Amino acid sequence: MTNQIDTFEMLQMQLEKDANKIDVFEVAQIQLKKAANKMNLDPNILARLKEPERVLMVSIPVKMDNGAVKVFTGFRSQYNTARGPAKGGVRYHPDVTLDEVKALSAWMTWKCAVAGIPYGGAKGGVICNPKEMSEGELERLSRRYIFEISSIIGPRQDIPAPDVYTNPKIMGWYIDTYNKITNSADYSTITGKPIDLWGSEGRGEATARGLSYIVEEAAKHLNINPSGATAAVQGYGNAGSISAKLLSEQGYKIIAVSDSKGGAYNPQGIDPLQILDHKNKTGSVRNFPNTEFISNEDLLELECDVLVPAALEEVITKKNAKDIKAKIIAEAANGPVTPEADDILYQRGVFIIPDILANSGGVTVSYFEWVQGLCGYFWSEDKVNRRLKKLMVKAFGETLKVAQRAKVDNRTAAYIYALSKVAKAMEVRGIWP
Ligand code: NAD
Repeated sequence: MTNQIDTFEMLQMQLEKDANKIDVFEVAQIQLKKAANKMNLDPNILARLKEPERVLMVSIPVKMDNGAVKVFTGFRSQYNTARGPAKGGVRYHPDVTLDEVKALSAWMTWKCAVAGIPYGGAKGGVICNPKEMSEGELERLSRRYIFEISSIIGPRQDIPAPDVYTNPKIMGWYIDTYNKITNSADYSTITGKPIDLWGSEGRGEATARGLSYIVEEAAKHLNINPSGATAAVQGYGNAGSISAKLLSEQGYKIIAVSDSKGGAYNPQGIDPLQILDHKNKTGSVRNFPNTEFISNEDLLELECDVLVPAALEEVITKKNAKDIKAKIIAEAANGPVTPEADDILYQRGVFIIPDILANSGGVTVSYFEWVQGLCGYFWSEDKVNRRLKKLMVKAFGETLKVAQRAKVDNRTAAYIYALSKVAKAMEVRGIWP
């Protein structure tokens, strides 16, 4: 009885939270419709693309360390599978909502098409706070979540991977659970796995590495010389910290970084590896020697050449868009800029590299991991990175061509490029009414 009340209360709390939040799925739909209008997309295809093909909501009972059972809520959204199996990460966060998962699954669909890899799009999420859970609790939650969604995933159906607050260790629990349920030793139902469980070389750095290749192309296009140019990074997890490292290797001076507890600023530059070490020891980038505190909001408004939002959605809105001073915004995070902010930034000449292009390196190397797993034949890191660069440079070039030809912002261009591929696949399948 207590558990049922807990679940009901959680759902009520969820609904209240949703009411106070800008609807992120609506953002995804606005972006879709904007591109569909520009390219005169067949209305029948648009009608099909406005909602996910399938959404599964599961409740996940977990025995906590104190002996009580807590029931968590989880989701899996499979947005579109015209171009291949559904593909996307799983997010563990207290603010996960169904709408967020749906939006993220839509973005995965367009991202896989932009990157030119043979997947549709999916996303999963569990409403939980992993920071307050023991490793044992997290393992039981992870194994039970995969059990609950096991009927709709598989190497040719839907392939989960890491996202915010999930990591290779959790992917190891996922694949082990899935292997036990299906009595199989397939390597390809989960990507982002540990190397010892047939993960791919280069997967850990892939999102940021892909972003760094694309920033390199954008800088060439805009005549920015990375030596002496500056960058600021919001969010210092997998995508953010490795982006900072790789941009610094290209010559950028990293002037500020932040995490959920706040940021650190030094106009003379911050060593990205030393501050990561400090975060690993203290739990935050804050109070790193020779830096001043900077809030997440102020970091976004710093004068810099490249701004990398690498945390959560909707951090650049109509409120702060006019105050953004970066020349390039490279969206490591999914959905960091709202549509209203997009328009303001485009008018102001800020060069946005949209999420579905900028962070597509992660899913691209997940695709390489899947291919390697299906073949049981594994590549060197060098081969992975060379193949990644080829796809990223192509995706950037094609997006830029559309932007110039159709005279639209880069996000709309990436959408047009992606949507034309998804629409073509739907047409030749004949799966729309
Ligand atoms: P992560 O869990 O490794 O790191 C998240 C970081 O964001 C942490 O440093 C955390 O402290 C910080 N953060 C959380 N809330 C914040 C807040 N309110 N303000 C500022 N910082 C905050 O996650 P990640 O994998 O690096 O993912 C970050 C973003 O990149 C997400 O939007 C994710 O969807 C996107 N992304 C990740 C990958 C990937 O392969 N990791 C691929 C594509 C997109």
